[in-house]
Amino acid sequence: MTPVWAGGEVTSRATCVLAPNPGPLTLEGTNTWLLMEPGSSQCVVVDPGPLDEHHLQRVLGLVAGSGARVALTLLTHAHLDHAESARRFGELTGAPVRAVGTGHDDLTDGDRLRVGGLDLTVVATPGHTADSLSFLLDSENALLTGDTILGRGTAMVAWPDGELAAYLASLQRIEVMTGAHQVTQILPGHGPALPDPAAVVRYYLDHRSERLEQVRAAVALNGAEADAVVETVYADVPRELWPAARLSVLAQLEYLRTHP
Ligand SMILES: [Zn+2]
Repeated sequence: MTPVWAGGEVTSRATCVLAPNPGPLTLEGTNTWLLMEPGSSQCVVVDPGPLDEHHLQRVLGLVAGSGARVALTLLTHAHLDHAESARRFGELTGAPVRAVGTGHDDLTDGDRLRVGGLDLTVVATPGHTADSLSFLLDSENALLTGDTILGRGTAMVAWPDGELAAYLASLQRIEVMTGAHQVTQILPGHGPALPDPAAVVRYYLDHRSERLEQVRAAVALNGAEADAVVETVYADVPRELWPAARLSVLAQLEYLRTHP
């Protein structure tokens, strides 16, 4: 049986506080990551999560308990399970919230952030959504992947905002980083931390090309109607995930149209 993920301290610089929003797409809940250089008084929070006052207070309590304050909040993407509380958390902390699409001072690929001695590099990983970012915690070769790579199972492409071609390119980019040992662990947006990212990225890429072949075959047999393709190709997936699978199918149909 898969051990249940409960968050907690994962590395000497990264602690996960699990938001109380478990579900078929969110696994045990959203991972709110607290990143801090040991001994520092400044904390970076990644994905404060859904608007849940109790969760936010828990995060603030942990930060204060370690003698620090939140100096910066980052969002991996704008989906509500990660970002709904961003405005409220900004009010509570007085710290800036940075992401793609915040309207001002957006983050872009390659940006380097230094907070209380902690170094982070922004790695744009569009595909799950157009605004998906990952953050590299340089000193620990740890990549915070949001919903681009999850701690269990596979991620979805939230078409039409998400795009399969972009998603595959992002996975390939992470694969290069794992090959160069620039990334040796993944801290995902849901589910447990992953100590063998190279194997995980390979699995994701294999899974994607397998699904794509299945979709191609289903289309050849029954035509390109999304619901019919879902029934055929995602028969092995619990029905509650079919709405998400449908978006991934639409992304795959779009990909097959544009990459014949
Ligand atoms: Zn999510």
